[in-house]
Parts: sequence; C-alpha cells; structure tokens
Amino acid sequence: MREDDGPGRVAVVGAGMLGLATAWFLQRRGVEVTVLERHHVAAGASWGNAGWLTPGLATPLPEPAVLRYGVRALLDPASPVYVPFTADRDLLRFLASFTRHSTATRWRRAMAALIPLNERALPAFDLLAESGAMVETREAIPLLAAYRTPPEMQGLLEELDHLRAAGQRVEHDLLTGDQARELAPSLSGEIGAAIRLHGQRFVDAGAYVQALAAAFRLGGGTVREGVEVTEVRPRGNGVTVVGADGARETFDRVVLATGAGLGGLAREFGVRRLVLAGRGYSFSVPVDPTPTGPIYFPRHRVACTPLGDRLRVAGMMELRGPDAPLDRRRIAAIVAAVRPLLSGVDLDARTDEWVGSRPCTPDGLPLVGVTASPQVWTAGGHGMWGITLGPVTGQLLAEAIVTGRTPPELTPLDPLR
Ligand SMILES: Cc1cc2nc3c(=O)[nH]c(=O)nc-3n(C[C@H](O)[C@H](O)[C@H](O)COP(=O)(O)OP(=O)(O)OC[C@H]3O[C@@H](n4cnc5c(N)ncnc54)[C@H](O)[C@@H]3O)c2cc1C
Repeated sequence: MREDDGPGRVAVVGAGMLGLATAWFLQRRGVEVTVLERHHVAAGASWGNAGWLTPGLATPLPEPAVLRYGVRALLDPASPVYVPFTADRDLLRFLASFTRHSTATRWRRAMAALIPLNERALPAFDLLAESGAMVETREAIPLLAAYRTPPEMQGLLEELDHLRAAGQRVEHDLLTGDQARELAPSLSGEIGAAIRLHGQRFVDAGAYVQALAAAFRLGGGTVREGVEVTEVRPRGNGVTVVGADGARETFDRVVLATGAGLGGLAREFGVRRLVLAGRGYSFSVPVDPTPTGPIYFPRHRVACTPLGDRLRVAGMMELRGPDAPLDRRRIAAIVAAVRPLLSGVDLDARTDEWVGSRPCTPDGLPLVGVTASPQVWTAGGHGMWGITLGPVTGQLLAEAIVTGRTPPELTPLDPLR
C-alpha cells in the first residue's frame, strides 16, 4: 500500500541502474511507477561497465592526483584520460570547475558526503536480492590491483591512507607477483606486486539491471521502451511528461534518471551543475582459467571483470559528447596496455566492443533530490560509481519522495547546489 500523503503515481525517465533502482524502491513503498526509456533497458552506461561493487574505492573523481595526471595526458588519444582539443563551452566550463574542485580540502569534503552512501551501498544490494528475481552479486575474492614493480603501488597506497583518514572502511594487504599469480593466474609474468582489497563485490552489470527491470515488472511496474521524453511540464500538483511523438501523460512526480543526458531536461528546473559524459570503453575476451575476482591495472586505469568464461576489459575516460561514435583508437590503446600484463586471454577474439557515458559532475558528487519544482526530482551524476551507488541512491530517494523528508545522506547531493 502507498504510504500516507506520498505520491500515487510516479514516472521515472531512464531505465539505467539509477532509474530502475529508484523505481524498484518506490514500488516497494506502494507507489505506482512507470519507467520511460528512449531505447531499451540498460541502453546507457549501465550495460558494458566493469560492474564493480566497490564502496571501498568509491571516491570523488576530482582530486589533486587526477588533475596532475589529466593535464599531462591531455590531447593524447592513447592516454587513459583523453580530452579532445575543442572550444566547446560546456566542456571548458566543466574543466574549469573540475579544476577548482581538485584540491585536497574539496576532496575531503566530497568524500565525507560519499562515505555514508558507501556504508549503505552493499546492504542496499542485499535488500534487492530479497526480491528473489535478482542476479546474485559475487564476493570479489580476490580483488587485485596489479603492478610491474612495488614502487608503482605508492599512488594507490597513499589514496587508501587518505580514504581511511577520511573515515572510509577499506582493508588491504600486499602481495608479491608470485602470490598474486597464484590467486589470479590471468596475471602475466610481468606483474611484480599487487594490492589485495577485501570486502568488495562485483556483478555482470547489464544482466543485473535487466534482472532489476524484470523484478520491477513482476511487482506490477511498467517499463515502456522506445519512449523518448522531450519535455516535462509541472502543472498544479502534477507533472505532464511529453514524448517525442507528442504523447503526454500526467503523474504526481517525475524522476529524471537520464544518465549523461541529465543536464538537458533538468536545467530548466534550476539544476545548473553540468553533467558531462566521461566516456569509457569495454570489450570481452575468452579467458582460461577464469579468474575468481576482478583485476585492476591502476597505471593504465583498466578494470577487468570475470563474466562466465570471459573477461570484460574496461577503461578510458574520454570527455566527448555521449552520442559520438565509438573510437577504435581507444580500444586499441586498452589492448596495447593490457597485452603484456595478462596471460591466458585472447585479446584478438574480442566481442561486445562498447562505449558508454559515465555521468560526471565537476565536483564529483551525484545530483539526487528535488529540483526547483516540487514535482521534478533527479537521480544521477554518479560518474565512475553509479552501479555501486545505484541501489542505495534509489532507496534514499524513494524515501525522500514518499515521506517528503530528505534523509541526511542526500543533503550534500542537493541538485540545486
Ligand atoms: C567503462 C566503464 C566502467 C565502469 N565501471 C563501473 C564499475 O565498475 N562500478 C560502478 O559502480 N560504476 C561503473 N561505471 C559507471 C556506471 O556505469 C554509471 O555511473 C552508471 O551506469 C550510470 O547509471 P545511470 O542510470 O545514471 O545512467 P545510464 O545507465 O546511462 O542510464 C540512463 C538511461 O536514460 C535513457 N535516457 C536518456 N535520455 C532519455 C530521454 N530523454 N527519454 C527517455 N530515456 C532517456 C538512456 O537511454 C539510458 O538508458 C563505469 C562506467 C564505464 C563507462
């Protein structure tokens, strides 16, 4: 049953992790929910990503080291961070703001906002598992960050120190190359040291989001695919949602969960903070033996995730429009980076080559909550961590929408900040 005085009917725009998690938690609170998706379920960033459920690593993107690294790497198409040389106004505004936020003080402030979400991230997945229709999440045993030499570990070790100083719980130990290979035979002889992280999980993100949609439908929810929302018009106590074909329908509330496109529909409701596409690439390859947990190559910012008998290899951060075509040079750069580091994989038998857009904000925090219109809400801008933080965000947002009270965890994520 619907809780007292909460909205009866809610539309959610976007069937990615954020839209469907919000829809599922709203449904659990008795709300009748319709999800409107321009393509199909998991058509955006929520499909080909690495699927790491790693609250121990979920940190704000702007930080002093990324900035130093990014500036060095600027303009090099083979670099893991690529910013094409363009005079695009939004991109320049984004970079200026990102730079302002890349200080140690701002990082600590943003981290303080993420920690309460990180703490609840995995329990929120456990709540979803109760629905019975969900894909199981897997313990990341082990999750390894692998390096050629021990000194290369310094960057991540310092980051882990900063994380713990900020209050994030995350445990690790150090391994030699041989110890790492014993746990993960997919590591080549080039690997001479590794950091093993404890207490994290992983999932096949695309399959997970599809299962979430199925569970939501099973609970009586509606997902309409092929419906592009072009306009949102609050009227009195309701809000009319207009489709590209002119069709319109009125709801009590609408939640915009349109990923890297969040800025488009949300801007006229006072959401000024830019959301830019931080595009990442992935593909999958046969692997034998299959590793039991994910592998990270921090020097190249490449994440590998076992999915059945294949390994998904994901990386790159390319600041380009979300609809730009897949650039084969980025795939080639990932292949070249990992070829010497992996063993037992056939990097030339790639399938599922994919590009997707991380919805990035310049301050590294998501945009979650009510906009200048009490009928219009946002759920997005999670950048690198929308899979990890999707369910907890949906849970807290559903609470805010239904009760009208903002949980304290959402206060720093105010979309009007
Ligand atoms: C290479 C790569 C690796 C990653 N690895 C991880 C990881 O290991 N762990 C992690 O936590 N995160 C990871 N991420 C980040 C994560 O994928 C994203 O943060 C997350 O998927 C964002 O989810 P979303 O629902 O906000 O957006 P999306 O999944 O992009 O969903 C938005 C949806 O809205 C739809 N839409 C847009 N506009 C409209 C409209 N006008 N009308 C109707 N529908 C519309 C789109 O079609 C899309 O389906 C990774 C990302 C990439 C690219």
